[in-house]
Amino acid sequence: MEHWWRAGCRAVEIHCTAPGCGHAAEVPLADLLRQVGHQASFVAIARAARCRRCRRRGCHAQPGELPGEGDPGYEDWLAQEVERCETFLRRAGRLSPEG
Ligand SMILES: [Zn+2]
Repeated sequence: MEHWWRAGCRAVEIHCTAPGCGHAAEVPLADLLRQVGHQASFVAIARAARCRRCRRRGCHAQPGELPGEGDPGYEDWLAQEVERCETFLRRAGRLSPEG
């Protein structure tokens, strides 16, 4: 999950696959990283997750939508993304070290 965090992803969508249930939830990626560790895969999360509605184990898990303008936490996310891109440009030699 670590590389998803580094790529700007901040939430995981979890969809119950039990027939007739249809429950879906969005879980903050920071919470999942604390619970399952940074090395866990989407497959591992999908196998371990339990539906809060029907209690069935196993689901579909995928990266959530990136925050959009006006969404809660958007400004913090944007600042982190700018910092990440500046770090990349510095490493690529396209930006002076002092930024
Ligand atoms: Zn369910």
